Amino acid sequence: MSAARVYRRPVPGEGIMIGGRALNWKSLGLVPLALLLIAAVPDRNPDRDPPPDVAPKPCDTCEDLCRLVDTYLQKEKGIELWRRYAASTPEAQRTRLPPGVTDTNGIENLVWKEFSEWARNRRQNRELPCKLRDETAAGQAGTPVPPPAAVAVDLVTVTQQDSCEIRYGDRKLEGEALRDYERAVDCKVLSDATIGHEAVHQEHCMRAYAEDHRRAPAFLDTPEQVAESELQAWKRHQEVVGDAIRSLAGKCGWQPTKRQRRDMNALPSAAQTRAMQERGWKAAEALGGSP
Ligand SMILES: [Zn+2]
Repeated sequence: MSAARVYRRPVPGEGIMIGGRALNWKSLGLVPLALLLIAAVPDRNPDRDPPPDVAPKPCDTCEDLCRLVDTYLQKEKGIELWRRYAASTPEAQRTRLPPGVTDTNGIENLVWKEFSEWARNRRQNRELPCKLRDETAAGQAGTPVPPPAAVAVDLVTVTQQDSCEIRYGDRKLEGEALRDYERAVDCKVLSDATIGHEAVHQEHCMRAYAEDHRRAPAFLDTPEQVAESELQAWKRHQEVVGDAIRSLAGKCGWQPTKRQRRDMNALPSAAQTRAMQERGWKAAEALGGSP
């Protein structure tokens, strides 16, 4: 177990541990949503632990749209970054790995740095689709974002064992652990997307062990394979969030352009989402709930 390596999926607004170092994913554009949501529910005491047996929020209201769009855009960037190093990218087009980047930790750290730089600039340039209280304040003041909460809402896929387990903390993601995870995220769309993401790592892990059990651990620990698995996982993640946005946007006042109207897969842009929020999601009323 000590040699076990894991894929740690970056969750916006949450902490991530790579190589024993706490990385701050809060800087990626979303505030700690769980905290905001808890604060918004008056009859729930965040100090009470464990939480009452309530279902997680489905995350299907117009107010949820901002962070869904934000997550989608973050995935877009991540996909672009992972593609640079992924095994499926023709070698001539791949970005050369810096010396020293030889394993899971190395590549995860590298892309994390690139990603968080992008996220910081984006926040400072106010390119976010939503007005998020904490983020706006931090971005304007240019102050460093506080360290992540001690308990990160995060999943890992253990790739150094042939069980290829997905874990939440030290528990296999099933039963009570699964329910705890979904409640902690408290946005079913996003927890489903994350689980879908880890399922991709799990598929890759199981395939590697099936093909060559002895070599699988080393194979899965190469930067190109990690990047490939992340590339596919971030794509899956984005698809789940994109589907949710698509089914929601029309109800929340999205006015697609002609080009967007012709494109079945079109989604509201950041600017459009911002405008919808500023209009107070008016079309929801005007359309009377029609799609
Ligand atoms: Zn991942």
